[in-house]
Amino acid sequence: MTVYLVGAGPGDAGLMTTRSLELIASADVILYDRLIPAGALDGARTDAELIDVGKVGGAGQFPQEATNTLLLEHGRAERCVVRLKGGDPFVFGRGGEEAQLLRAAGIDVEIVPGVTAGVAAAAYAGIPVTQRGMAAAVAFVTGHEDPGKDETQIDWPALAAFPGTLVFYMGVRRLDQIASRLVAGGRPAEEPAAIVERGTFADQRTVTGTLADIAARATQAGVRAPAITVVGAVAALHEELAWFAAGPLLGLSVAVTRARAQASPLAARLVALGAHVVEAPAIRIEPLAAALPDDLAAYDLLCVTSPNGARRLLEIAHDARALAGPAIAAIGPGTADALRAGGIEPDVVPPRAVAESLVEVLAERPVKRALIARAEQARDVLPNALRERGAEVEILALYRTVAEQLTDAALELAHGADYVTFTSASSVRFFLDAAGAPTDGQRIVSIGPITSDALRERGLSVDVEAVEHTPDGLIAALLEDVTRDRA
Ligand code: SAH
Repeated sequence: MTVYLVGAGPGDAGLMTTRSLELIASADVILYDRLIPAGALDGARTDAELIDVGKVGGAGQFPQEATNTLLLEHGRAERCVVRLKGGDPFVFGRGGEEAQLLRAAGIDVEIVPGVTAGVAAAAYAGIPVTQRGMAAAVAFVTGHEDPGKDETQIDWPALAAFPGTLVFYMGVRRLDQIASRLVAGGRPAEEPAAIVERGTFADQRTVTGTLADIAARATQAGVRAPAITVVGAVAALHEELAWFAAGPLLGLSVAVTRARAQASPLAARLVALGAHVVEAPAIRIEPLAAALPDDLAAYDLLCVTSPNGARRLLEIAHDARALAGPAIAAIGPGTADALRAGGIEPDVVPPRAVAESLVEVLAERPVKRALIARAEQARDVLPNALRERGAEVEILALYRTVAEQLTDAALELAHGADYVTFTSASSVRFFLDAAGAPTDGQRIVSIGPITSDALRERGLSVDVEAVEHTPDGLIAALLEDVTRDRA
């Protein structure tokens, strides 16, 4: 078996390579770092083992020895192992050491390069690391070392004399010493320098100055890791070539209360718009044992009411052909897409993602016998309406929604969020049971009328309701609210 050392790029998920996404999708085990793009693991198999080796319990670094042990253990277990690292695995990523270790143990290694921060963060700040007439060379340097200590690995006088751009990784806190060392080595104090913090993320910031004042400016601006520092004439091109605009949700925190398994795509889109996302999944989807009726072909309609229902239905069917026979109706574009992922094109998708809309659309269609595939507990609008028309209706309960335990930390963060989003009536009930009412000033965002009703039932007023009842619609409504608020 092979262990893949894979670069995930600097932070913008769009900078992940095709190869990295392919490997993430096929891995049995993924050992990942803290600095990977939001949503990088969304494509992983649901049964893949995802191990965070970026930190333990929120404190400190996961020791490299522990990562090594896990790599060897999983590599030997004949599983497809992806070791996912920020940026490029071989640029200050300890990828070389991990490759040596695996090789020594007789385990095959494949390296998937990634877009490295030193080039990408600079580019997103409008700084080309080489430029004709300005910089004919570029050096990547670790700023991690203490320039003051005796046996430094860096030859500072040689580095100061380097004829080109210097890009420092790490070492934001050592900037002062780094700059003095370079000036002492002969680089002009007025040489341009720029620091790019959280490059390629929606909240990227750039601070510019000269070797003389860059450290003070960075401190004043409160720059923190991760950041790269560019020293050289090219750093001044930031003023001319900066292009990256801050996301419209920058500075806002948004709580996402939907089930963890479904939260990521929504969270990733919010992060891409600059929001700080607080994941507070109040519910979890529990599949129920269920079987299709033997005579499914004798039904004339099969209604699927949610993406979870669609996925579970495809699971119990084992084979899409088992669903042949009845016309298939899907409530909501997400449900329709989940069916399409299983090779089924729904016959009916009502214009609005609510049961009422499906009832309207079905008015003209003769229905004698219908099967409704849905959650155990759900509104009875659809079955009641079909029964009133004289149809024989059966319910196929495919899953149930149960409470997910929320940590005190998650609850506290959720209470501090500027926006709290709800994507279903059940997430409203379970979230409010766990967290209590939102605090004053928090804006409540609902995906649609049913969710809004559940909020009002609990005495809450809805500040924002999506026009289109999908996660994208919810984001659009939230953006509109923010724009209106800021206008
Ligand atoms: N292998 C990574 C580097 C890992 S070392 C790569 O190729 O990019 C970690 C350092 O990388 C950080 O301290 C910071 O200096 C830099 N870095 C990583 N991501 C960054 C980002 N999004 N913006 C700015 N610097 C980043």
